[in-house]
Amino acid sequence: MNHYPASIINLIRNFSQLPGIGEKTAERLALHVLKAPRKAAEALSQSIMEVKDRARLCGMCYSLSDSERCNVCSDATRDSALLCVVEQPADMVSIEKSGGFRGFYHVLGGCLSPMDGIGPEEIRIEELVKKIAAGEVREVVLATGTSLEGESTAAFIAQRLQSLPVKVSRIASGVPVGGDLKYIDQLTLKRAMETRHVL
Ligand SMILES: [Zn+2]
Repeated sequence: MNHYPASIINLIRNFSQLPGIGEKTAERLALHVLKAPRKAAEALSQSIMEVKDRARLCGMCYSLSDSERCNVCSDATRDSALLCVVEQPADMVSIEKSGGFRGFYHVLGGCLSPMDGIGPEEIRIEELVKKIAAGEVREVVLATGTSLEGESTAAFIAQRLQSLPVKVSRIASGVPVGGDLKYIDQLTLKRAMETRHVL
């Protein structure tokens, strides 16, 4: 790497700090940028800055958004009686792609994991309870993953919502144990949503 000029070494170093990118891949990416037309390089650097400047959490569902409300929360045709609880924004994207859900979402920002020091305070459970207590939601669909942590998070939330007048259901059928929602095919996810059961 030291045989390259300082500008290229700098770019290789920056790429190699990205997750999953080793030094060899970083070198390949840097050389690709070097060869690419100026416009493409500008578009890449601009899109990185745009994410930093614009992307934030939606004030309603806590998914990613470029404005105060994300596209899903701004959609007035959706069913406000249905609320789907997911771990991460990527899970919401997977369910949206499956087309099996027409309600709104609540993104927890993770799942309970005592081993990693993640308790109920660290994820957005109280925000969820407040939302349900407001009264518009009739059914909460718990779509956390089927890992041990995902299951115990769903069980915890179900118990936390027990005293509230809301139906609590859990996606299950077709979702493999230990499965991460973002790796599940859309048809499976759609069926899992359709065959959810009351907890
Ligand atoms: Zn939203």
